Amino acid sequence: MENVRVRFAPSPTGYLHIGGLRTALFNYLYARHTGGDMLLRIEDTDRTRFVEGALENLLKALKWSGIEIDEGVMLDENGEVTQKGDCGPYIQSERVEEGIYDKYIDQLIEEGKAYYCFCSQERIDKVRDQQRADGLTPKYDGLCRSIPLEEAKKRVAAGEPHTVRLKLPVNRDITFNDKIKGKITFNTDDQDDQVLIKRDGFPTYHFAVVVDDHLMGITHVVRGDEWVSSTPKHVYLYEAFGWKAPEYIHLPTVLNKDHKKYSKRNGDGMVEDFIEEGYMPEGLINFLALLGWSPDSEEEIFTMKQLAEQFDFDRVNKTGAVFDKRKLDWVNGHYVRDLSVDELTEKIKPYMVKSGLIDESYPEDKLKLLAATWQSAIDKFSDAPELSKNYFLADKDMTWDEEAVEAIKTDDAKKLIDSFLNHLEEIDEIDEEFASTIMKKIQKETGIKGKNLWFPVRAAITGSVHGPELSNAFVIMGKEKIKERLNYVKENF
Ligand code: GLU
Repeated sequence: MENVRVRFAPSPTGYLHIGGLRTALFNYLYARHTGGDMLLRIEDTDRTRFVEGALENLLKALKWSGIEIDEGVMLDENGEVTQKGDCGPYIQSERVEEGIYDKYIDQLIEEGKAYYCFCSQERIDKVRDQQRADGLTPKYDGLCRSIPLEEAKKRVAAGEPHTVRLKLPVNRDITFNDKIKGKITFNTDDQDDQVLIKRDGFPTYHFAVVVDDHLMGITHVVRGDEWVSSTPKHVYLYEAFGWKAPEYIHLPTVLNKDHKKYSKRNGDGMVEDFIEEGYMPEGLINFLALLGWSPDSEEEIFTMKQLAEQFDFDRVNKTGAVFDKRKLDWVNGHYVRDLSVDELTEKIKPYMVKSGLIDESYPEDKLKLLAATWQSAIDKFSDAPELSKNYFLADKDMTWDEEAVEAIKTDDAKKLIDSFLNHLEEIDEIDEEFASTIMKKIQKETGIKGKNLWFPVRAAITGSVHGPELSNAFVIMGKEKIKERLNYVKENF
């Protein structure tokens, strides 16, 4: 079998969208599964959509995710954008400057497979408006198809503005075999004579993608569903050049919970936002792999290596894949559980500080205890402040949930709180010894036990009758905070 070469070919128009990361991932997994190469090419021929800094952001997000690029555009050890490989440059605007596309467009023009078009944008718009009004699919009407080449060349030489269009054959079926969707056929009569070279002299995506995939030896084009309808044009271009077309694999659309396309237009679903929310690369990657692909077993937790071993296109779904954030949390939570307490402490610290609950000077041992206390409930690092906020909030900013209020409005609760407060007076600060024995002591003193003991105390201090190890909360909060909280509850409930 020939060596598999796949590519991720983003247009850097902003931040990397989760759908783009999924495309990159499926390319990467296939490359690793087959022992092939993963390329990264930048498709920036549409200069109007160019965004400064977008390339660096994109490469950083990819690197964070653990997807490694074998060839093309990548970051070096110092985080600088660099290019590696024998088929460069791998940035299309640089390829334009090197004149790489020129001879290919000339070849098509000379062979009558492409033609110069001198129609103004106004004329094209008018034709389209008329077609729409007549209930037809708007497309270029082919006016310039019949201009003799010699005449067209003279007009070009005289500086007349022009584009170059693909001359599609009339009424021909173009068929390709998508590895996921199966056989797909389009008739050329339903297709536009695609612009290949724009008025500014830049190639369009459709032209550059074919030339580049060919020159870079791409064997499998793995990309989003939205490109299916462009594929016949690409297939025809391969035929026109006499080149072998790659295999096509169009991935199912990523849908939001309303089953609409999870699109980057409305600004959500950016990988950077998931990083900021405190998802782990292992979790996001594991989740994205399951977004459209399913393994041969019930297993759902996979490392990148395991994914690469098992991944193939025959288990990729045909239909759209719904992005379910609860599932992401569940998957990510597995990886949070696997961290050591020290690692988790380091990860949650910036989130705790940013939330304002603690500051940089907060004692490390208490933060570690907090991490250990909440580890089983944290799905992403930004959960840490949300889950533990009641340990730190001012009493007036606290909320006690309904069950908690019920538990602290009892006579038992008053006795328990008084007993707790008395014991606090005996010590300077809460240590482990105190934390682990206090409940026994107040049980003995009040004669209250079981749920009747634990619910009111936990409720008064933490705002809920449920939660993780209560003695840890005593240590984390410390004497003054608990004293204040218990007095507040005494007075206000
Ligand atoms: N540059 C295209 C994009 O931004 C890539 C399409 C392709 O993979 O052929 O999505």
